[in-house]
Amino acid sequence: MTHKRIDLHMHSLFSDGELLPSELARRALVLGHEAIAITDHVDYSNINTITEISDAIDDINNKWDITVVLGAEITHAPVESIPELADKARELGAKIVLVHGETLNEPVVEGTNFASVNCKEVDILAHPGLITHEEAKIAKKNNVALEISTRKGHCLGNGHVANIARELGNDLLIDTDTHSPDDIITFERAIEIGLGAGLTKEEVLKATVDNPKKILKRHGINL
Ligand SMILES: [Zn+2]
Ligand SMILES: [Zn+2]
Repeated sequence: MTHKRIDLHMHSLFSDGELLPSELARRALVLGHEAIAITDHVDYSNINTITEISDAIDDINNKWDITVVLGAEITHAPVESIPELADKARELGAKIVLVHGETLNEPVVEGTNFASVNCKEVDILAHPGLITHEEAKIAKKNNVALEISTRKGHCLGNGHVANIARELGNDLLIDTDTHSPDDIITFERAIEIGLGAGLTKEEVLKATVDNPKKILKRHGINL
């Protein structure tokens, strides 16, 4: 069976990405994507962006053969604000809520991973770096998926994330964190990156096919 790509972590120029939602969707469609989530960076300054791109997303969904999902990535916010920002994102229409995790690559506030896995409104903890056993256990209990990142720098923790997820049974995703056209990858490339992180073929398929579908289904999107 041939599978199509699903990427639940992408940025448009409504945060620091380079492309409009339409071009992002068009390029993803051409590279064989079945669904993408546009998850622009948000804090209290710009969380209303979620409503600004919803018309474009509806337009694309009505006319093209790709599912575009409205999302948000809570980024570098004070840890105490994460639950409230997640609720607000949901209220504004975000289907997929990510938090920008404690990557090895940026000075993300310590405690971000812990606050995120404890927030049931969070779907995905992006690039969770050196996530602890305790945090991974809570993530599992609260259905917060962990991300294997294909992005330069953020990917440095992938091996650790793959190991801990295997040990504790966390759901994994393989997402790009796309900011530029060249960041978008094919399904085959996602498989390679998962294998490179130490996942088995079976685990990679779960992370690229079953788990993203499971998250979308939870929010009423059936592919
Ligand atoms: Zn960014
Ligand atoms: Zn991101």
